[in-house]
Amino acid sequence: MHWFKTSMLIRFSLVFCSCFLIFAGSTRAADNLGVLGSKPKWDVLEHYQGTITRDEFAHLINDVYCTHVIPDGLIKIDNDSAQILTNRQSGKVFTLHFAPDPDSKAHIPRLWRPAKSLPRAKLNKPLAGLRIALDPGHLGGKWAKMEERWFKVGDSKPVTEGDLTLRVSRMLASRLRKLGATVLFVRNSTQPITSKRPDDFKGLARKILIQNGVPRPRDEVLNPKDPEKEGTIKFQSEILFYRYSEIRRRATLVNNKLHPDLVVCLHFNAEGWGDPANPTLVDTNHLHLLVNGSYLQDELEFDDERFEMIRRLLSRAYDEELPIADTVASSMAQATGLPAFQYPTTLTTTKVGTSGYVYARNLLATRLYRCPVVYCEPYVMNSKDGFARIEAGDYEGTKEINGFQRKSIFREYADSVADGLRQYYSKGRGL
Ligand SMILES: [Zn+2]
Repeated sequence: MHWFKTSMLIRFSLVFCSCFLIFAGSTRAADNLGVLGSKPKWDVLEHYQGTITRDEFAHLINDVYCTHVIPDGLIKIDNDSAQILTNRQSGKVFTLHFAPDPDSKAHIPRLWRPAKSLPRAKLNKPLAGLRIALDPGHLGGKWAKMEERWFKVGDSKPVTEGDLTLRVSRMLASRLRKLGATVLFVRNSTQPITSKRPDDFKGLARKILIQNGVPRPRDEVLNPKDPEKEGTIKFQSEILFYRYSEIRRRATLVNNKLHPDLVVCLHFNAEGWGDPANPTLVDTNHLHLLVNGSYLQDELEFDDERFEMIRRLLSRAYDEELPIADTVASSMAQATGLPAFQYPTTLTTTKVGTSGYVYARNLLATRLYRCPVVYCEPYVMNSKDGFARIEAGDYEGTKEINGFQRKSIFREYADSVADGLRQYYSKGRGL
């Protein structure tokens, strides 16, 4: 779910942007990095020289990655090459040379394999040889309240997104294995991947707050309704732990150890529920999927994010993840009957693909995992229907819920993702 995520990511981007503005004049060619970001290695992009034509590059920049305004001077596309600014202060640029035509493109260096380059497979094992990593969103368990992925209606069992996503991932894993895939878990418990904890980030949280106009940040949150909770060290150090540190560690695991051909991120969505102990249940329920793209101006200003975007663009992950997302989205839409979520604004996301359910958006996971990533956001957990189905738990066959015969929400989710992947890879491998 990302109704919190939306506001916080933007808030954090702004936070760091203003840090940059404050310190820009006082340090020499300071790296301008996102939260817990690492220094970009522009030299790595030398391996992509001559791998893309000008038209392809311009299309991916204009229609996928930079669909909003590109701040002045960051990316310049000439006839034979593109100049990408590596750092505003130093004024250094990375020059990417284009392939003169599609036939003379150099080989694209990447560890993952698109469907069409996988070895032959049997008809009933369309995922044979494929490495799929499952990334159940959030942590759940004892962390669910801290993550603000926890709500409880009356005497019912609390709803915690991180536990729901893990449950679906385990079901999905067995379905994918039956189809021949090697399944890897980015997380397979409610324990964080990062070894850091909120206390490790207190110093950084204090620094961020002071730099952003909270001169004497308070340590603790007074109560859950504390209007100044976002200005506390506790709140900020927790976000640094469960979001930034955790997702960056997951990325290290994916990129350095798991080496999947595809990552599927599993989430449940939500609408604002207000007081988690007395949440609002809504009528709206919907579905959408995300792929990486649609970078905001503030995000493009960060040297590391700009580098990661260009690296991702050059790997051509989009060419694979978009049709996968479209196929999975159609399968999920058919199984769930959910309408497509419509973002209230086009300022942060860009609709892509053909299904009507897929958006490009720059999330940490979709940017950092260096392979195709499909990020699923079905079901509003605090919708009347979604909540009733979560409460009903897992079961075989169907049950009547709010007047309709329904499959278990967990099985419906796992079955429809597995079926979308079966369809995509069967077609892609010519089975
Ligand atoms: Zn989520």
